[in-house]
Amino acid sequence: MRPCRGRFAPSPTGALHFGSLVAALGSCLDARSRGGEWLVRMDDLDPPRVAPGAADDILRTLEALGFAWDGAVLRQSERGDAYRAALARLRAAARVYACSCSRREIADSALPGAEGYVYPGTCRSRGLAEGAGRAVRVDTRGAAIAFDDAVQGRFAPDLERDHGDFVVLRADGIFAYQLAATVDDADQGITDVVRGADLLASTPRQLWLQRLLGLPAPRYAHLPVAVNPRGEKLSKQTGAAPVDRSRPAEALSGALAFLGHEPPGDALAAGTDGLWSWAIDTWRIERVPRRAAIVTIAPP
Ligand code: GLU
Repeated sequence: MRPCRGRFAPSPTGALHFGSLVAALGSCLDARSRGGEWLVRMDDLDPPRVAPGAADDILRTLEALGFAWDGAVLRQSERGDAYRAALARLRAAARVYACSCSRREIADSALPGAEGYVYPGTCRSRGLAEGAGRAVRVDTRGAAIAFDDAVQGRFAPDLERDHGDFVVLRADGIFAYQLAATVDDADQGITDVVRGADLLASTPRQLWLQRLLGLPAPRYAHLPVAVNPRGEKLSKQTGAAPVDRSRPAEALSGALAFLGHEPPGDALAAGTDGLWSWAIDTWRIERVPRRAAIVTIAPP
């Protein structure tokens, strides 16, 4: 058995809010309750989306709430060589191709799928040269994927039908999240990926890339996502408030309750230290509600 190792991989687009705190806490408790390691990675791959100062602000909030991560924080913005090497392997295996289709062309010719449009494979046999303004896509033909999610249950999607050949290098030259996350999880030796259920649709693509690259597949657990009464995921865009790091015990206990682990009064009275030791002893992934989303009216 490999020792268990989890991770939290926030995108530094703004301050930590209740929704991302839930992912941080669930991934940390899942690892720590089994004596495992827990790492933090910054998904700062997409420069226009990165908010100046947000990465440090997220880390300060995590510290204020009593989170302690192992090792240095990995930053995707410094990982270009690793992503290029993975893409070279996919290219050598003839699993990727250049694509010149615009968003408009895809919208006009494709059917809606699990997330956006299903790419119909237009450029697959065109033999285009890679280069500026062209995306690189991975071939999904024959991708029979099945996995058991520790919270959401069994999934056996048809990748070609539900997503089609997906982008691994964007037309603007930025590596796609799917490739970066797959390569980073493998290089960091992550055994357990615990994150929000909004990323459930990404998992088959990452499993497919793992298979093509000969990488081990982690265990996956997708936590319910906190949504507002309009059904929108809490995020900077939907106006979610930053976690109040001057009230760390309240923030932690709110996230624990959301994950099916409401702390008893004496744990709460003992502050963040008391909450952490109670939570590490008590944590069972089976207690997390088996739901994709939970309406959260007033996040602490
Ligand atoms: N950076 C992604 C997000 O904040 C999470 C990526 C992951 O956990 O794989 O939604």
